Amino acid sequence: MKNEYDENICCEVEKQTEKSYHSMAPEIVQTSSFSFPTYEEFIAVSADEKNNYVYTRGTNPTTEILEKKIARLERGAKCKVFSSGMGAISATMFTLLSQGDHVLMVNTIYGESLSFIQYMEKFGVTLTKIDVSTTAEIEAHIQSNTKVIYFESPSSQKFELLDLEKITAMAQKQNIRTVIDNTWASPLFQHPLDYGVDIVIHSCSKYIGGHSDIVAGAVIGEEKLVDEIFENGHQSLGAVNSPFNSWLAIRGLRTLPVRMAHQTHAIQTVLDHLKEDPRISKIHHPYLAVGEQKELADKYLSGYGSLFAIDLEDTDFTRLKAFVNALEIVTIGVSWGGFESLALPVVKGNNLDAVKKRGLSPAHIRMYVGLEEPMSIVEDIQQALDQVYGK
Ligand SMILES: *Cc1c(COP(=O)(O)O)cnc(C)c1O
Repeated sequence: MKNEYDENICCEVEKQTEKSYHSMAPEIVQTSSFSFPTYEEFIAVSADEKNNYVYTRGTNPTTEILEKKIARLERGAKCKVFSSGMGAISATMFTLLSQGDHVLMVNTIYGESLSFIQYMEKFGVTLTKIDVSTTAEIEAHIQSNTKVIYFESPSSQKFELLDLEKITAMAQKQNIRTVIDNTWASPLFQHPLDYGVDIVIHSCSKYIGGHSDIVAGAVIGEEKLVDEIFENGHQSLGAVNSPFNSWLAIRGLRTLPVRMAHQTHAIQTVLDHLKEDPRISKIHHPYLAVGEQKELADKYLSGYGSLFAIDLEDTDFTRLKAFVNALEIVTIGVSWGGFESLALPVVKGNNLDAVKKRGLSPAHIRMYVGLEEPMSIVEDIQQALDQVYGK
């Protein structure tokens, strides 16, 4: 049979080569689907789509390399990667929760995660959001229908820690699942699965990607649970990571240890120089924690992430804007975990009530130390403070 039509040349499926290139970097298997030499093989393989390549909405060889690496870093049995952190979070909660279930959202968690659970109220899921950090206070809010305790530690904006071991012991006794968003610490500086947490989530858009060029997410846990999230939350909600973005995340992981070693040193340098500044009323970061919070930091963190927040002494919005605009090295922008230092005030001029409801000061500014020389960031913040608030 001749097959020399241009259309057919364009459409002909490549024969798989037996040759391997032994490339240092993995291949980007940028394909939507996979071909089968016989129908019998298709039937055999498609009976187990989780462990075979059929369609990239399910599995893909490049993405699988990333999943195996993140699972090992988090010391979990299995990882599933998603096209965003929110894709990972929504797929997890969609899978774990049913009508009539209750969720405890602990601490100042990432705003969009809270919005998502609030949205699930229309499906009959209820939630309690509690701004506490002791295990006894958390336990006091458990209901007979509580199915999930969802938290960050350190938390967004306030960077307060929870006692993971105590929370999981308490939750396990009552058959409640625990889910932690571990993005702040990266997979290197905190290993929640070691303390009995059921599910660890990362936004790979932050430290794992590391270069401010991808949006991706990951879920890690025991095989059965991650498979369930794969079959329901991933397959049907469809937040699938592209093979190219998986490849970029793999490339990000190559330098994660050196970047995190820099970050833990850089953040301490910056905070050592800002902590006595009278123009800053409070710095939120575990490095400066005292008492019980310090003990938790020492127990659970083997290094420090470089995301933190400051509350300015002066809460005037016009001067706060002038301060942020006066920064020269530090850039204004959302997200974090890349190479560039960032500042982002929580007040936007029209959301003061929401900010107060979250328990934050109107002069609260989230900041991120990037990979620039740390003292230059200190000097940049100081010159902006000098300009607006005087020396
Ligand atoms: C950014 C972020 C998310 C959301 O991740 P995306 O990849 O942006 O969807 C969730 N949790 C934390 C702590 C984050 O910083």
